[in-house]
Amino acid sequence: MNILFLMLLMQPNLPDRGLLHRSSGVKSAQPIMFDSTHLYDVLHYDISVVLDMTDGSIQNAWTEVTAVSETDSLSRVNLNFVGLDVDLVWANGSPASYERIGLGANQILSVELGEVISAGDTFTIGVGYHGSSLEGIYYSNYNGGLVYVMSIPWDWTDLPIGARYWFPCRDAFWDKATSELRITVPPGYEVVGNGSFEKVDTVENNLRYHFVESHPIPTWYIVFAVSDYAILSDSFTYGDSTMPIYHWVRHPDSANALVAFSNAPDILTFFSDLFGDKYPFFSEKYGYVKLPPLGWAMENQTNVFWGLNIPGNHYYEIIFAHETSHQWWGCSVTPHSIKDIWLNEGFATYCEALYSDHWQDGISYHDYVVSNIMNYYLGHENYPLGHPYPTYDPPDGAVWTPTTYEKPASVLHMLRHIVGDSVFFDALRFYYSQYKYANANTSQFQAAVEAVSGLTLNWFFDEWLHKAGHPKYECLWSWEEMGTDSFGVHLEVEQVQSSEWNVPVFKMPIDIEIVTESGDSILFVIQDSLRTQDFDFPVSSRPSDLLFDPHNWVLKRATLTGVEESAKYTDVRLRIHPAPFRESMCIEISVEGETLASLGMYDITGRLVRRLLNKKKVSDRYSLKWDGCDNYGRRLSAGIYFCRLQIGHGSSTRQKIEKIVLIP
Ligand SMILES: [Zn+2]
Repeated sequence: MNILFLMLLMQPNLPDRGLLHRSSGVKSAQPIMFDSTHLYDVLHYDISVVLDMTDGSIQNAWTEVTAVSETDSLSRVNLNFVGLDVDLVWANGSPASYERIGLGANQILSVELGEVISAGDTFTIGVGYHGSSLEGIYYSNYNGGLVYVMSIPWDWTDLPIGARYWFPCRDAFWDKATSELRITVPPGYEVVGNGSFEKVDTVENNLRYHFVESHPIPTWYIVFAVSDYAILSDSFTYGDSTMPIYHWVRHPDSANALVAFSNAPDILTFFSDLFGDKYPFFSEKYGYVKLPPLGWAMENQTNVFWGLNIPGNHYYEIIFAHETSHQWWGCSVTPHSIKDIWLNEGFATYCEALYSDHWQDGISYHDYVVSNIMNYYLGHENYPLGHPYPTYDPPDGAVWTPTTYEKPASVLHMLRHIVGDSVFFDALRFYYSQYKYANANTSQFQAAVEAVSGLTLNWFFDEWLHKAGHPKYECLWSWEEMGTDSFGVHLEVEQVQSSEWNVPVFKMPIDIEIVTESGDSILFVIQDSLRTQDFDFPVSSRPSDLLFDPHNWVLKRATLTGVEESAKYTDVRLRIHPAPFRESMCIEISVEGETLASLGMYDITGRLVRRLLNKKKVSDRYSLKWDGCDNYGRRLSAGIYFCRLQIGHGSSTRQKIEKIVLIP
């Protein structure tokens, strides 16, 4: 599932996509997608709906669910089905008894089959119904009347459970079946559905449009839209085959749409080449469908629903690329559960950078990753919970956020650097070939990358996806002359991110580039894995600069301080008053000359509770205050603490420690 909101960087006057994800409405209780007692697998949905185009209600509908039993004693079948009035139910061609069980989103239609179905045998349940859907189908008076399906309920529940509100189904996130739609509307309307357009029949002065999706599709990608659409035709040729592209737009948007959507074939070609397999629904179609101005786009299988405006230019090119890439990552390879939603959104967000690079002639990949992906995440890392959380299995209320979009896109970028370009893209192709038209989970993706690369990557997936946050490096570098044409560069790397909220100390290879006065740039790779770690590099010319991760291959915040040789100190004093203290304490540091100082408060177990200085350059007299609170502004309990001052760097680091008594 994807809702892609406008990117702040692209349109600064609009809220960004992450912050728009949630309405101010009260969130409903977490729905149960499906319980585990359902011992059957759905093979096909045949959904016929007669629509009232004045309000989007269902005049009457008939849905047939064909499934195969997975047990030898199947006599009753439970389907997700919420709200609508049931008129009749059939099982295997005969009227069947049924009951409605449960409340709200968990409402079940429980059907007696009238016989016992053995494992491997198929059965068909038909349900006739009518009414107004509470969710799933929406009506707008836009364009003279527009009815569309959206699987994410308007209360922004995390799970895409809209399907159960308009047809009886096994509404499990991963469960896929083929489907067909027969949507009947009055003359003057056009209908678009998933898959191939088969035909339109006249039925009692109305028109019945028939679409067939012959590839497996999860319930939450089954959609249709109806309005007075203009249909624009295009085509996509790959190899020696050609498939149709259609766009359903408002008549007044036609001229703009011809320009805005004109690169659709190029985007399809780019991803077909990149993922080693042509557009997954080549035997059917592709296209965009204009919805009312809703602020999002949604990558439904074989047609993207477009709730943004259509300018007569390529302003939304990158969003088109994002949604198109979902046809591979989401529609074809569908995540096994909502826990793995990053396999959709992280991939599609990363594909923005890949396509941007292609579109901008190979110069914008790194710019796009840094500006639109990494920096975006770093600006929203705690959204919406106020603290970092893991990308895999994000907490309730945090499923559609930068932690499942931009952070995992950054993870793919880092993975690419670790395994190398050719292995990375080979691994994507291998993963795709293994799971196309099926489901995959996070560990299966990891296994695919490990199989192709020959590397063990548990450490990487664990720290970046199963744990939270990102590293915050504070680096200090210096050099000394060792002899003729011999210089030693020293780098101290400290990871200062808090360990709260399951944020790890990160193990990462990091590029270090040393620039010398002779004009050379020498690349080293460090394996950083500790809170504080020292590295030494020999160079043969006087160093003039050190660059930490110069090409931004690592998602991080970092500061880098160079220590000039003149930054020497001769004496340091630490004075604290009053002692003991209750409200506020003054700390005075006196140095002769200049030095780098770090100062923190530790409890009696040695845990750092408050950092007051971190490698700050100080000279002469420097004073600061401590209010008895920890790093999060919480008042610490009364007792004994230690103030530790560290001065200098590398092997010349010295420290002074003073005992402090905090009184209640
Ligand atoms: Zn998406």
